[in-house]
Amino acid sequence: MATFGLADILGSDEAKTASRHIDVVELWSGCFSVGRAALARGFTAVPFDKYRIPGTTDVEGEFCEDLVTQSGFSKAVSTVLAVRPNGLLVMAPTCSSFGFPNSSRCKRTHDNPWGDMSYDKVQQGNKEFQACERLTLLGIARGLFVVLENPPRSWLWTLMNPALDGYEVSEVTVHRCAYDDTAPGERFYKPYKFLAVSTQAVEKIQHLCGRCTCPSVLRNGHLQKHIRLMPDNAKGKKCGRPDRLGAAAAYPPRLGEALLLAWLDRPSSALQNEASQVSQVSLVSRCRVSASQVSEASQVSRRRVSEASQVSPVSEVDDVSEESECPPSDSGDAADAIEPASEPSIDGSADEGPFEPPAEAVDDDSN
Ligand SMILES: [Zn+2]
Repeated sequence: MATFGLADILGSDEAKTASRHIDVVELWSGCFSVGRAALARGFTAVPFDKYRIPGTTDVEGEFCEDLVTQSGFSKAVSTVLAVRPNGLLVMAPTCSSFGFPNSSRCKRTHDNPWGDMSYDKVQQGNKEFQACERLTLLGIARGLFVVLENPPRSWLWTLMNPALDGYEVSEVTVHRCAYDDTAPGERFYKPYKFLAVSTQAVEKIQHLCGRCTCPSVLRNGHLQKHIRLMPDNAKGKKCGRPDRLGAAAAYPPRLGEALLLAWLDRPSSALQNEASQVSQVSLVSRCRVSASQVSEASQVSRRRVSEASQVSPVSEVDDVSEESECPPSDSGDAADAIEPASEPSIDGSADEGPFEPPAEAVDDDSN
């Protein structure tokens, strides 16, 4: 990990002379869903991910995009310095050591959120957290719209709390399936929590509001709403399927678009697509909830970060139904039976955001 002196970086010649031409940067960009949505609208967007090949996936050196290496972190700092004021910085550190799957080996607890540091996956997760924390502070200092993403009860949030204390933050949890255009019954149920920091960001992030409205459908002879990420094994214990967990970590294109639109202070188009699909498939009897319950379920909390310490991260003995796994098909839980909200469709094709896209189409360097 590179030595990090925020004041030194902010006072450096590089910081003072940076061109600040980038609109959107995704760190741990994966499939680059947010950036792709930005490019499609003419913004300059830059991906950054160690699996992306640049130094060849990825090794120390000029092109490295591994954020836990010296050169990769330095390149990330330079990239963030080149983002324009009010530009979008999205970070989604690897959650595998922070969530329920593998929690019995990672051993993160309230007394020791740093976990078992003799375990290599914990060491890696902690290094990624440190990079994320530092780049978050840099992004805030540079006046960016900073958004972090991890599972709702990830230990990342606990670790991040001290750094964000005193900043105004807002968080929202959305369900992957609300943005997934695959057929009902074939989607993954995965909640993502997004946390935005800085005064302008806390208002806009509230445009993200997609919640599961999937119907139960007949699949392989039984009713189900989703493909299970952690099906029961022969012993009746939940067992993560790496292929499914990996696939579910990738944002569907409409979720990337929704986050971009939030930055542009525009509502997203998650829910009404679900509403149309619900009417097209055979449904089991479902509990209906009132409009007020829908509002409550979609509500985001706006708070000072000091309150975040009251949120309990997942532990190995916690119920995982809201963390990383599909709720049971016959669940009567209100959150599992939310009726889709009736919001107007926004296709985003004529965005009028805070920044005018450049006349030229896209940044060829960014992909
Ligand atoms: Zn769903």
